[in-house]
Amino acid sequence: MSCLLCERVGRTHLNQYPFLIHEFKNSYLYLGEHQFYRGYCVLVTKEHFREMTDVPEDKREELFKEMMKAHSAIEKVFKPKKMNMCSLGNVVDHVHWHFFPRYENDPQFTNPPWLQMHLFDSAKVTTDERDELIRMLKDQFILM
Ligand SMILES: [Zn+2]
Repeated sequence: MSCLLCERVGRTHLNQYPFLIHEFKNSYLYLGEHQFYRGYCVLVTKEHFREMTDVPEDKREELFKEMMKAHSAIEKVFKPKKMNMCSLGNVVDHVHWHFFPRYENDPQFTNPPWLQMHLFDSAKVTTDERDELIRMLKDQFILM
């Protein structure tokens, strides 16, 4: 098991990754370990797929619905001006989607979130912040 996200999925199964927000049928929604963009989350497929085109069509449709539910939950809690969703996989080639809520007061609003990547580590969440943000997001799934 050499893929970073396969390892994370494995740790999630063992209850050893405390950033889990919600388990879907095909994916896990995690709070991002940094919150440079408040509400930043990542949706990771349970199985290792390299590309979205590698996901069987029926699962892909379910996965899309899971992405939309994750999007709605994040939107309801954080009320961003715009959500940036992206799936790159150049660093870790396991299908995952980043959700970056973007806000009105962001001076870099029209730029892609990755241009601020060098600052992400400066915004690591504390355990208390993490638990609070996860609780707020989990509440949305109870209502869905
Ligand atoms: Zn993987």
